[in-house]
Amino acid sequence: MSDETSKMNVHVSRETLAVQAMGRIDPLTRAVVPPLHLSTTFIRDPDNQYRSGFSYGRADNETVRELESIMVMLEQAEAALVFGSGMSAAVGVFSALAPGSRVLAPAVMYWALRYWLLHDAPALGLTVDFIDMGDIDAVAAAAAAAPLNLVWIETPSNPLWGVLDIAAIADIAHLNGARLVVDSTCATPVLTQPLLLGADIVMHSASKYLNGHSDVIAGVLATRVTDEFWTRITRIRSSHGMLLGPFEAFLVTRGIRTLHVRVRASCANALALALALQDHPLIEAVLYPGLKDHRNHALAARQMKGGFGGMLSIRVKGGEAGAIAAAAHVQLWKRATSLGGVESLLEHRASIEGAGTPCPPDLLRLSCGIETADDLLADLDQALHAAVA
Ligand SMILES: *Cc1c(COP(=O)(O)O)cnc(C)c1O
Repeated sequence: MSDETSKMNVHVSRETLAVQAMGRIDPLTRAVVPPLHLSTTFIRDPDNQYRSGFSYGRADNETVRELESIMVMLEQAEAALVFGSGMSAAVGVFSALAPGSRVLAPAVMYWALRYWLLHDAPALGLTVDFIDMGDIDAVAAAAAAAPLNLVWIETPSNPLWGVLDIAAIADIAHLNGARLVVDSTCATPVLTQPLLLGADIVMHSASKYLNGHSDVIAGVLATRVTDEFWTRITRIRSSHGMLLGPFEAFLVTRGIRTLHVRVRASCANALALALALQDHPLIEAVLYPGLKDHRNHALAARQMKGGFGGMLSIRVKGGEAGAIAAAAHVQLWKRATSLGGVESLLEHRASIEGAGTPCPPDLLRLSCGIETADDLLADLDQALHAAVA
């Protein structure tokens, strides 16, 4: 594949490179959209070498590598690996830790990964301590309390949208000889670049904003340095077959071409909704880091560039029943889990998280798509009123 962009002698932004998928064109046909590579095997050279760098599909696929090179560019990373899901990317990191390793994780985080850390990580010999990552003194104390190997954070975090100080937590991790990994799914590379703030590895569920169209499950890791730990993750991805198929990789690359415009539109909708809903008579509270009275607003304004994300939550008056009734009456919003697609989704989060969740029962999680803000607001308003009628 020839990389036209790398031949340019003008500097262009990450956004421009993403729009043009790094400017790659097919050298055979000069196609502007690179072809989809499906072959799982590659011809050996007569002298028994694989000079192309491709031997077998479990480790080598050009369509997957093209997506990885875009993620390297977006995160200003040294290397990136694409996985079959965000969960497999996360599990890939934890599987690379030696048995006996100690991990710090946030008390409030993506539910399925919290569940895995609680129920399955111990079988790998990992000890996981869940702490309030918003309290920097508590993080420092927990980090120093016993030998530490890895700190995992998510920011902004599901489903309360707290924002965590990546640079401060990276310092604490490094001071204690540990790595910091950031789940940056909801910030996206558009709003935050954790590796530039000191994180060692950044993780994304590409099923969300990166793909952006609710039709692919995928995950990504990108690393600041390609050290021995990264080599181990790379080996584990291949040996465990934690792969993304080439067609899905092709779709994620296509999604990333519009990442910046979609994220900006989602952020604008989320902010407009948060401002309009904070004084709504049927809403108890709006949780959105873009609001001035959000506890992490100053940090979010410093750390997130160009927006506060497309996710917010509302606490509906009337408790759990009020929230579920409001969700029942939406027409335009889709009552569904997941986030980061062009269509707006709304969900009663405590029902899906089940017992032990830190999520309040009156909370609805809103993933703002890119529809017109007025349409989204009008539908929510009618649903809230219909619920109490
Ligand atoms: C969806 C999600 C994940 C898991 O990703 P999958 O692609 O669904 O496996 C992890 N973290 C966050 C913040 C998510 O939203």
